[in-house]
Amino acid sequence: MPIATVNPATGETLKTFDPLGPEEIERRLATAHAAFRRYRATDFAERSLLLDRAADLLDEDRDDIARIMTTEMGKPLAAARAEAAKCAKAMRWYAANAAVLLADERPLPEDVKDSGAEQARVHYRPLGVVLAVMPWNFPLWQVIRFAAPALMAGNTGLLKHASNVPQTALYLEDLFRRAGYPEGCFQTLLIGSDAVESVLRDRRVAAATLTGSEPAGRSVAAVAGDEIKKTVLELGGSDPYVVMPSADLERAVRTAVTARVQNNGQSCIAAKRFIVHTDVYDEFAARFTEQMAALKVGDPMSESTDVGPLATERGRADLEELVDDALQRGAVALCGGKRPETLSRGWYYEPTVLAGVTPVMRIHHEEAFGPVAALYRVQDMDEALDVANDSPFGLSSNVWTRSEEEQRRFVRDMEAGGVFFNGMTASHPAFPFGGVKRSGYGRELSGHGIREFCNVTTVWHG
Ligand code: NDP
Repeated sequence: MPIATVNPATGETLKTFDPLGPEEIERRLATAHAAFRRYRATDFAERSLLLDRAADLLDEDRDDIARIMTTEMGKPLAAARAEAAKCAKAMRWYAANAAVLLADERPLPEDVKDSGAEQARVHYRPLGVVLAVMPWNFPLWQVIRFAAPALMAGNTGLLKHASNVPQTALYLEDLFRRAGYPEGCFQTLLIGSDAVESVLRDRRVAAATLTGSEPAGRSVAAVAGDEIKKTVLELGGSDPYVVMPSADLERAVRTAVTARVQNNGQSCIAAKRFIVHTDVYDEFAARFTEQMAALKVGDPMSESTDVGPLATERGRADLEELVDDALQRGAVALCGGKRPETLSRGWYYEPTVLAGVTPVMRIHHEEAFGPVAALYRVQDMDEALDVANDSPFGLSSNVWTRSEEEQRRFVRDMEAGGVFFNGMTASHPAFPFGGVKRSGYGRELSGHGIREFCNVTTVWHG
């Protein structure tokens, strides 16, 4: 894929960039490594000062960077502003909390009594240069979610961002530079995915994190495995959204629409499979379809737009193939199922609700990365869980029920990294984020996230 800004609302190529050559990549690797040696010696107070300053700058830049994001990947402008604000908040959270999250740990006195280990402790040290391979769907948030904890832990970062968001990638490097970080603490590598392997194999790179598709994750994890380097993978999701009879149906429907079309439907934690108890299925299906069909699709720069274009032409083609496959195999489009007729340019797709989805259809097993919902009718909680877990993915999940007994059962049996009751999945700095099965491994955010790229060290005093 060429490294370029192509406006998904028009299909127009606005700016292209040459990928870095081998000499420049080498120079940046050396700079990152040298920076790590110095930066690791800073204390939490110094690191917090830098990260807080970066958060302040990001707040000042909010409107400008939001326009860049919307231009590069098509999310509605209001959502882009909200993303920038969320990033600044997470940066401040890590600036305020990293020292506590990474404080030395001591065992209970009774556990080490008379063992000679009374003074021993667990101490968190940074790992080194961490390579972050990141996607375009939340072009700021995905990066900050990695960078804020990694930098607070004392690591330095190299960002290989998706090829369609180069201006956002360059903005991020510039943001950390302006905040006063020493040269080399955070650098953007404008490189294609074919150059990732050699960077990852470089002895100066200690670890990698990747958010993106399963093939990309598999490829990076294979190289890292060969080099015995730590990885965190946050891959796709096809989150279930279960609605049981005791649900507040009005809220469940309204939230379902937001959960499905947020970010033009291109979110790993978007609800994608709507699994509805037969007692409330007909009413849910009718109201959900009505609200999905009423969404305003159009220019993402317009404040009144609900759903903008898909980020890439390829992404729309993939989604169309998925929907066409389902329709050919017997699914019914309750709304949408095609491109909007009124928008001749850009990579738009109508909000779509598919009923009668079955396991013979690709959409049952694959991630629908766009505003397309798959509906299922189930007879009881057992069947709801069977359908929910019948997926290669296990990122997060949503369940609408007021029954505590049902809630306990879903917490016990749902195969996912999160179970959200009576609401939609959202990430928060204080809680871990990540999945099981083919959604990846490791966790981002919270104390779990910051410790992923630490050398957890036993320090023993005799
Ligand atoms: P990719 O996984 O291809 O891209 C994500 C990042 O990985 C980009 O920086 C990309 O670089 C890089 N990359 C891709 N292939 C490799 C590789 N073999 N080795 C190293 N790095 C690689 O996502 P796409 O944009 O192609 O989207 C495809 C599908 O992936 C979506 O439809 C969706 O299902 C899923 N996806 C999930 C996301 C999530 O949040 N979990 C985010 C984005 C996509 P480059 O851009 O240069 O190719």
